Amino acid sequence: MPHVAPGPANGRVPESAMPYVLNTRGPRLVLWLVLSVLGGVLLARTELAQLREAFETDARISHRLLSQRAVQHEAVLATLALLQPTTQAGVADPAEQRLSSVYPQILSVQRRDPGSNWSSTSLADAENASRQTRHAALANLNFTAQQGRYQLVLAAQPSSFALLIDVSASVPWNDWSMPAQSSPVRVTLEHAGGVFVVQPGRVTGWGWRFEFHKHLASVSQPFDVVAVRQVGWLELPWGLIAVWTLLMAALLVGWSAWQRQRSARRRAEELLRVGQVARLNTLGELAAGMAHELNQPLTAILANTQAAKRLLQDDPDELPTALQAMDQAVAQARRAADVLARLRRTVEQPNSAEPSQVVDLAQAVRNALDLLAPECKRRGVSVTVQAVQPAHVLAERVALEQIVHNLLTNALQALDLVSAAERQLTVHIEVASGMGVLRVADSGPGIAPDTLPHVFEPFFTTREGGLGLGLSLCETLATGMGGQLSAHANAPHGAVFTLTLPLATGP
Ligand code: ADP
Repeated sequence: MPHVAPGPANGRVPESAMPYVLNTRGPRLVLWLVLSVLGGVLLARTELAQLREAFETDARISHRLLSQRAVQHEAVLATLALLQPTTQAGVADPAEQRLSSVYPQILSVQRRDPGSNWSSTSLADAENASRQTRHAALANLNFTAQQGRYQLVLAAQPSSFALLIDVSASVPWNDWSMPAQSSPVRVTLEHAGGVFVVQPGRVTGWGWRFEFHKHLASVSQPFDVVAVRQVGWLELPWGLIAVWTLLMAALLVGWSAWQRQRSARRRAEELLRVGQVARLNTLGELAAGMAHELNQPLTAILANTQAAKRLLQDDPDELPTALQAMDQAVAQARRAADVLARLRRTVEQPNSAEPSQVVDLAQAVRNALDLLAPECKRRGVSVTVQAVQPAHVLAERVALEQIVHNLLTNALQALDLVSAAERQLTVHIEVASGMGVLRVADSGPGIAPDTLPHVFEPFFTTREGGLGLGLSLCETLATGMGGQLSAHANAPHGAVFTLTLPLATGP
C-alpha cells in the first residue's frame, strides 16, 4: 500500500532559511601558523641584522685600532732613521733602549751601522727590500695561534733600524670595543699563511656566520684583519617570537569569537524574519482555511432555512420537518461560530493552543455525521461506523471535529464520481500502539499514485472549484495535537485517510 508521509506543517522554519555557518577551525589554524612563521622570521631577521651591524662596527673599530698601531711602528722607525744614533757605531744608544718602556709592543731595537752586518740574512734582505721600496719591510714574521712576532726594518743612512714587535702587546685593549675573553667575535691577524689569534670568540655550531676581511691600513704591515661572528639558534629572539605567537593566537581567538557572535546575531535576525514570514503565511493560510470551513456550514444553513421556509409556506402541517431543518441550521451556525472563535483565538494569541481535552473519537464522528446527514441522504450514502473499541483521545474538540468533517466531506465528494450502487463509506475506530486511530475509507475513484504525494500540500486540488486547503489544514491541526494524518489507497478502489491521536489514558 503506498503511503504518504505527513505534509509540511505550517509555520515551520525552512532549513534553507538557516544561515550556513562555515567550520573555520582548519583555516584559522593555518592562518595562525602562517602569521606566526612570518612574524617569527621577521623578528629573527631584524635581530640578525642588528647583530650584523654591531659585529661590523666592532670589526671596523678593531681594524682602525690595529692600523693605528702599525702606523705608529712606521712612525717610530722613521723617527729613529731621521734622528740617527748619538753614540758611536757599535755602541747602543740609550734612547733606542728606552723605546720599549714607552711602546711595550716594541720588544727590542736593532741597528746596523755603516760597515757592520745584520745578525741574520733575513734582516739584510728586508733592508734591501726597504731600500728599494723606500718603506719599512717585514722580516722574521712568526704568526701562530698564541704568538705574533715580526721585525720591521727601515733602510736609512748612515744607520738602518729594525724593530722586534710583539703583536699581542700592540693591541690597545683600553680602547677595544669588545670584552676580549667573553665576546663571541673571533679576531685574527693573518699573513702569508700565519694566523695570530687576537681575540678567541666562539665560532662553533650551527647558525649564521658573519665575516669581515680587511688589510691593515699600513703599507709595511699589510696583515689581514679577519673578524668572524657565528650566531647560534639560541641567540634568536625566542622570547619575542613566543610573545608574537601568543599575540596572534589571542587575536585569532578574539576574531573568531567576534565572527561567531556576528553570525549568531545574523542567524537570530534571520530566524526572526523567517518566523515573521512564516507567521504571516500561517495567518494567510488560516484565513483561507477558515473561508473554506465557513463556506460549508453557511451553505447548509442557507439550504435548511430555505427548505423550512418553503415547507411552512406550502404545507404548515409539515411543522416537525421544518423544525428538523431549523435544528440542522442551528447546529451548522454553532459550528461556524466555533470555527470563528478558534480563528479569533489563533489571531489574538498565536502561540497559545486550545487546551486539549478528553474526546471520544466515536462522539466526534457522530457529531460530524449529524451535520453531514443531509449530504449523505442526498447522495444515498449510508455511513458504516465500526467502533472496535472505545478510543478516548487528548485533542481539541473543535479541531478534531473539523478534521473528521473534512475527511467525510472529501469522501462524499469522491463518491459523487462513482455510481450510486458502488458508494460505500466506512469509519473505523480502534486503539493501536497506544494511539487512538480513526480511519475514513471510501469506495470512490481513489487517489492517483502521482497525486498521492501532494494531497497535503496547501492549495493542491484536483477538484473543480476546490481550494486545496482542507487536507493541509487537517494535517496541521493533527500534528498540532501530537497526532498524524496519512493517506493510503483503498482496495479494490477508493482512498483511506488515517488519523492517529495520543490516547487520553496512555497505552
Ligand atoms: P479540495 O477538497 O479543496 O480539493 P483538499 O485538501 O481537501 O482540497 O483535497 C486535496 C485533494 O486531495 C483533492 O483535490 C483530491 O484530489 C484529493 N482527495 C482528497 N480526499 C480524497 C478522497 N477521499 N478521494 C480521492 N481524492 C481525494
